[in-house]
Amino acid sequence: MFQFPRLEFDAAAHALREDLRGFLNAELASGGFSPSADCWVSAADPAFSRKMGAQGWLGMVWPREYGGHDCPVAHRFVVTEEMLAAGAPVAAHWIADRQTGTHILRYGTEEQKRTILPRIAAGECFTAIGMSEPQAGSDLAAIRTTAQRSDTGWVLSGRKIWSTGAHYSHYMIVLARTSPAEGRNRQVGLSQFLVDLSLPGIEISGIRDLGGTPHFNETLFDNVELPADALLGTEGNGWAQCMGELALERSGPERFLTSLIVLEQALPVIARHADERRAIEVGSILANLRVLRRMSLGVAEMLEQGESPATAAAVVKEMGNRLENDIVAQLRSMLAGISFAEWPDGLEALLREAVLHLPSNTLRGGTTEILRGIIAREMGMR
Ligand SMILES: Cc1cc2nc3c(=O)[nH]c(=O)nc-3n(C[C@H](O)[C@H](O)[C@H](O)COP(=O)(O)OP(=O)(O)OC[C@H]3O[C@@H](n4cnc5c(N)ncnc54)[C@H](O)[C@@H]3O)c2cc1C
Repeated sequence: MFQFPRLEFDAAAHALREDLRGFLNAELASGGFSPSADCWVSAADPAFSRKMGAQGWLGMVWPREYGGHDCPVAHRFVVTEEMLAAGAPVAAHWIADRQTGTHILRYGTEEQKRTILPRIAAGECFTAIGMSEPQAGSDLAAIRTTAQRSDTGWVLSGRKIWSTGAHYSHYMIVLARTSPAEGRNRQVGLSQFLVDLSLPGIEISGIRDLGGTPHFNETLFDNVELPADALLGTEGNGWAQCMGELALERSGPERFLTSLIVLEQALPVIARHADERRAIEVGSILANLRVLRRMSLGVAEMLEQGESPATAAAVVKEMGNRLENDIVAQLRSMLAGISFAEWPDGLEALLREAVLHLPSNTLRGGTTEILRGIIAREMGMR
């Protein structure tokens, strides 16, 4: 069975939490942002990202020589939790800070580490994920985008879809086929590329989601000439590298705290109408949140130890996404019967946003069915 180590918060982490709350309260009071119920995907504000960079809250766990702050992973966890709890506009830097930077640190050239990582840590460089394609989502090995060697580097051709934030990103990590599959083994022959999105031949078009926000994109690569050092890591090792990236992507608090802001705003009015049913619902939500937080912290600890806990991350995402959906359903049922006149300002808009983004939770970063398959395989059941 899966072991989740116990990561603890030290006194500095508690002090950091207080600093964050002070910063967020000041930002809210000055109209710096309006809370969002899907803040880490849909609410992008580069100016807010730069403010976070100036506070030292991006690239926290990376070495100082690359613009990082050499902080323990628990401190980064605190920042993540507080930003999500406030519904702050963190989408612009989220992917770069969460996974691309760490990936560059692991696989990038010295030049890429020195030029790109400090800009990410300053909140000035954003990145996107180029895995999915129109015909390849869950079945990622079916991608058709290719990169072929040229005299000067590589030529990239193909189409990526659903890439969050590609329209404001500076780079995308693109998974491409560099050599044919070996029979039924399609995971060989794939490689990752760090692609500068300002290069000629790249066309990015926004896609609107159910709520009308164009936060993700389709990206066309039309014979894009890449320099030789765009190859990230080892040629042919793209599949394994992607799986490592997904462990970073799936286990964080954003997999169960996305709609916490709605819960927070709704609790006072629900408390005024407390009855046995509502008390049980709130109790069960909080109990589940505590368990998931402990598990997510455990995965953060494994990542800090240099492990790649793909299955443990899949467990967090599968359970977290279910809880997020349950929270919104439970809130709707708890608020039913309470007059709108009693709802605090902004709650109706936040709840609407949460409901419209709900279908995304169990799709983005790998669907629930795929995660269950990964877990079943680990248990020897597939
Ligand atoms: C909001 C959002 C943001 C996203 N951001 C990005 C991004 O930044 N970069 C990126 O590359 N991608 C991104 N994605 C794409 C996401 O990773 C894919 O949507 C996801 O992997 C599913 O792929 P698909 O949409 O092609 O669905 P499909 O793979 O076609 O799946 C359709 C349904 O069939 C089920 N299914 C498929 N195969 C199996 C199986 N073997 N067993 C059981 N059930 C199965 C799935 O669970 C799902 O319910 C994003 C998606 C969303 C919704």
